[in-house]
Parts: sequence; C-alpha cells; structure tokens
Amino acid sequence: MKEDLALYGGKKTLNKEFKWPIFDNEDVSAVTEIVSSGNWGNPDCGGIVEQVEKEFAAYCGSKYAISCVNGSVSLRLALIACGVKPGDEVILPPYTFIATASVVLEANCVPVFVDIDPNTYNLDSTKIEEAITAKTKAIIPVHFAGQACDMDAIMAIATKHDLRVIEDAAHAHGGEYKGKKLGSIGDAGSFSFQSSKNLTCGEGGMVVTDNEKLYNIMNSLRNVGRVKGGQWYEHHNLGCNYRLTQMQAALLSKQLTRLEGQTQLRNENGLYLNKLLQQIDGILPLVRGLGETLHTYHIYIFKYDKSAFNNLPKREFAAMLAAEGVPSFMGYPEPLYKQPLFQEKNFMSYVIPEEVDYTNVTCPETEKACYEDAVWILQHAMLGSKEDMDLIAKAIQKIKEVACE
Ligand SMILES: *Cc1c(COP(=O)(O)O)cnc(C)c1O
Repeated sequence: MKEDLALYGGKKTLNKEFKWPIFDNEDVSAVTEIVSSGNWGNPDCGGIVEQVEKEFAAYCGSKYAISCVNGSVSLRLALIACGVKPGDEVILPPYTFIATASVVLEANCVPVFVDIDPNTYNLDSTKIEEAITAKTKAIIPVHFAGQACDMDAIMAIATKHDLRVIEDAAHAHGGEYKGKKLGSIGDAGSFSFQSSKNLTCGEGGMVVTDNEKLYNIMNSLRNVGRVKGGQWYEHHNLGCNYRLTQMQAALLSKQLTRLEGQTQLRNENGLYLNKLLQQIDGILPLVRGLGETLHTYHIYIFKYDKSAFNNLPKREFAAMLAAEGVPSFMGYPEPLYKQPLFQEKNFMSYVIPEEVDYTNVTCPETEKACYEDAVWILQHAMLGSKEDMDLIAKAIQKIKEVACE
C-alpha cells in the first residue's frame, strides 16, 4: 500500500542519521591551536600549509602538491600552468560539476564535450579521438563518483596527440587505478576539499604533480605571481591570492589521517551493495571500471529502470527512496551543456570564439543518465554498516513492491 511508504506517512526503512563530516577533539584542538596563536593567514605558504601539502603529495605518491582555496581554482591553476592559449580546445565529459568546464572558459579556451560510457559514467575513451582537432590542447577526465577513468587509454591518446591530461579527482581522494592513486597519473591531478567531498576542511583545493615546472608555475599563480626566493613586492606571473588559511590546513591534516580507512570502508560497502542490488530486477549498479582497484564511492550510483517499477518516474522513485531514510537523490537533472551558461553563451568578458555553439551538442548517454537512469546515494551513507546496506536494498524492494501492486 502507498501508505506504507515513508513519503506517505509510513515507517522509514532506515532510521539513522549518517554524520558528515566526522571529527573529534583532535580536529577541534588542531584548529583552536592555530586560532590561539593569532597566526591565521599564510602569506608565505609555509608552516602547516606546506606540511599538509607534503603529506598529501606523499599520500598520492606524487612529488609535489599545491594547495589553494577550492577545487575549482585547483583545476584552473593546473590548466593555466599547462600553457593553454586562447582558443585552445579542452576535452571533458558533460556529466560533471560546472567547474570542470567553467575553468576552461575562464582560460579563454573551449570546452569540448565527449559523451560518457554508460557502464561507468566516465568519459568514453573510445570517443575521445574523434573529438580531437588541431586546436585540442588538453583532456580533463573526471573520476566521476570516485570510479577510476580508463587512464591507460586516455594517457595513450594524450601521448599520441601531445595533449596534457588534468585529472579532475574532486570525487576521488584515495581512489586507485591499477594500484596508483587517482590524480597521480596525468600531468596534474586536482582535488576539492569542499564540505561534501570525501576529504574536507570546509573549503579548499589541491593539485598534485610530478612535474617541477608545473609545480613552480602553480606555486607562483596561487600566491599573486610571486616566485620562490623572490621579494615581497616582486610579481612575475598573472596569478591571484588563492592561498589556504592555517586553520584549513590544520584541519585538513587531521582529516587526512582518516581518509584511507574511510575509503576502504566505502569501497567494501559498495562491493557489498552491488551484490545486493544486482538481485533486484530493474536496478543495475554501475560496472566497476577496468583495472580499477579502489573506488572511493563519493557517490554510489545505480541505474533505475522504471519499466520494472510499473513505470514509476525516476524523480518519484528518488523522492520515495530519500523519504525511506536513504541519503539519495536523482543526481544531475540535465547534462552540463544544457545550462543557460552554454546555451546562451553568457561568457562575460572571456573571449570565446564566435562560432562556438552548444545548442547543437547532444551526448545521448549523458542525457539518458540524467533523464532516465541515474540515482545517487551519497558518500556518508557508504560509511554505514553492512546492516545499513541491507536496509538500503530493503528500501528499494519496498518501493518496488508498492509500485507493482
Ligand atoms: C566539487 C567539484 C569540483 C571543485 O569544487 P569546489 O567546490 O570548487 O571545491 C570540481 N570538479 C568536480 C567534479 C566536483 O565535484
């Protein structure tokens, strides 16, 4: 009966508050120590900021890391440092957060959308080459939801066409591809520490790289164009003040100690939930990528087939699932290129070639994911117990039974 569903007054299947962020007194005292010191800012990017950069670089297996104010700016730093020029094209997927594309426009470059693989919701590496032109300069693969992109194929294409690869690892802290940490494979890897991300200090970003030249440029760009060893009033490059505060760095350093354990737990729960949901007709967990060893499950995504649910629309199914106590929703309602920004070319003062037109872009797999298939369960729920995973499956079963009555 409809009334059995929590959305219509019935009993919730999962009666638990999933906490995020997770912290204790150590996090609190790390921050209060900085506050008490009165030394909050960090004009030299040294001290605890430099320390957490070293910790994060080591964790990722990269030589260098540069911190900055957020994961949009970290993408921007990486892209600019790669030496893009106005009018260059950058390949990226349309199933992603706005920043993956907006940083390209802010560099006066052109985002070129390549469709996703319906099995993984990551950039379809078999469709990249047909999008490459003489103007293509870089690829931004997004390890969407924390699932590794097809990096061997992407790196091979990049080498063949002399393209830079910037991994958008905003969902992928601690994830691995063939034993390598995500973000450490391309020319640079960009991370976000915004409050919803798997590693957070409220706001923040980081770029990792093995390339000393990129590192030096990014170091300068995030500190108003100053250079190492230079004077205070000596500005070499067109940068900005993108520096992290000491409070953020102290918190990040503490949070980083929890990341590996949390990632392993989400990965285990994800594999377990895959087994449970595979058994429900009309529910299809995404395929785990080739060569992928560790999925961060920033989002646990499954595909919903309404024909197995008596044609209950995805939007209604998602609302019912959320009401049952599963932290979930329908995900992106439309592909990125459908945003007014692209459709109306509201590019402000940025200089984008006149002929660029997003009204005729169609990526059918992304559209199907947005309009029909994808349902997202959020990362903090993936930190739950096995029993919680059982209850997530049970909530879906309950909705199915009611829908099919
Ligand atoms: C969160 C996110 C970013 C950057 O986000 P900030 O909020 O600027 O830290 C970039 N790419 C993706 C895919 C994201 O989800």
